[in-house]
Amino acid sequence: MNSRAKYKTKKRDMLLEYLVSVRGKHITAGDVCEYFKAQGAEIGQSTVYRQLESLVDDGLIGKYLIDGNTPACFEFIGRDVQHKKDSCYHCKCEKCGKLIHLGGDEMKPLQEQLLNRYGFVLDPNRTVLYGLCENCK
Ligand SMILES: [Zn+2]
Ligand SMILES: [Zn+2]
Repeated sequence: MNSRAKYKTKKRDMLLEYLVSVRGKHITAGDVCEYFKAQGAEIGQSTVYRQLESLVDDGLIGKYLIDGNTPACFEFIGRDVQHKKDSCYHCKCEKCGKLIHLGGDEMKPLQEQLLNRYGFVLDPNRTVLYGLCENCK
């Protein structure tokens, strides 16, 4: 392996390590950049995006789209096949923009009811419910 390829692999490993360490949490590309900065390993945002996308392609991490004003969330999934099928939904406050990351369990009953009663399948790529948060309502 040439040194350039090695360097690239190292970044990918570090990224994956970080995602595993925050398993169960949603993180954004911005969080990743901050983490690398804190580690003294500055990595450009475009590299972070590229690596994240490639991990999504490999099925190791999930990507949840919010909306045009909010960056996408990423979450480590690994080889957890069941998790892959559950989508993670989000509640977004229309006033302050606060985002609540719902676990798969919280939306599952609704997902199942929609499917059983109406044969309706929720789009896992549209995961945002809009409303008002605790502070704004
Ligand atoms: Zn709010
Ligand atoms: Zn999220």
